[in-house]
Amino acid sequence: MAADLHFHSIYSDGNNTPAELIEMAISKGIDTVALSDHDTVEGVAEMIEIGNEKGVEVIPAIEFSTYQGEVEMHILGYYIDYRSKTFLSKIHSLFRERIARSRKMVKKLNDIGININYQDVVKTAGDKYVGRPHIARAMISAGYINNIEEAFTEDYIGNRGKAYVSKDNLSPLEAIELIHKAGGIAVLAHPYLINDGAPFDKNGIINLANQGLEGIEVFHSKQSQEISEYYLKIARELDLLVTGGSDFHGNGSVGLQLGDVLLDDQYVAQLKDFYNRKYGTPSGK
Ligand code: AMP
Ligand code: ZN
Ligand code: FE
Ligand code: FE
Repeated sequence: MAADLHFHSIYSDGNNTPAELIEMAISKGIDTVALSDHDTVEGVAEMIEIGNEKGVEVIPAIEFSTYQGEVEMHILGYYIDYRSKTFLSKIHSLFRERIARSRKMVKKLNDIGININYQDVVKTAGDKYVGRPHIARAMISAGYINNIEEAFTEDYIGNRGKAYVSKDNLSPLEAIELIHKAGGIAVLAHPYLINDGAPFDKNGIINLANQGLEGIEVFHSKQSQEISEYYLKIARELDLLVTGGSDFHGNGSVGLQLGDVLLDDQYVAQLKDFYNRKYGTPSGK
């Protein structure tokens, strides 16, 4: 048995429901999962409920997009209290910012002759979470581009794109603190894939560890075995937790399935032990 601790649902930019994701986990023989949607815990309660029914342990989680200047890094929070009022109110304000920002990007696209409207964008998004992948899907539906990648260019909504609008940014430290206040464990997601920045090296990780980071995602679908070994060594040297997952997004993940990256039981056990020692309570269920 093993775990997949990183994937997305319809509540952010994946396109599978919690029920479908649990079925996928079962069909792969996985007994522990974490739904780690971008900036939202909207799907977590449903995931836990279905997991309980079907005998799959669900660790509550989130994946925050954070920024240090132009450099975007993702911070995973595990075992967060997904019902905490202060935590929810902070992420709701992040949602509101996302909506306003997406409307601005649609307006900018309109100005350069891409005639999509915000309603087309939210059609493929959840109630609250909306981001560039949804805008890209609306552009595909309207026939302006053929695939999601084409939207993420300088012509459209790539980070230096004509119609790009930046987010009001959460810093890594703010995300780490939010996760800790919600009783969770903060882990750097896919350290090799940092948007607009170089892959993290030991110094980058030390810097985050000094800000309270407790683990790194060593195993990830876009990190080769060699890269995983590199980060495993750093995790050992710095005494950081080791996590891993597929980062499955549904149809958006061509050739990838949930469970294609598995985290060994020993690391899951270390994560749980760490959690129990730090917070002294059973998991955030
Ligand atoms: P946003 O948070 O709205 O700025 O959108 C960022 C999300 O878009 C990321 O979390 C990825 O899921 C997705 N994304 C970023 N770059 C690309 C790309 N080149 N191709 C496809 N999807 C991307
Ligand atoms: Zn995503
Ligand atoms: Fe990510
Ligand atoms: Fe992800």
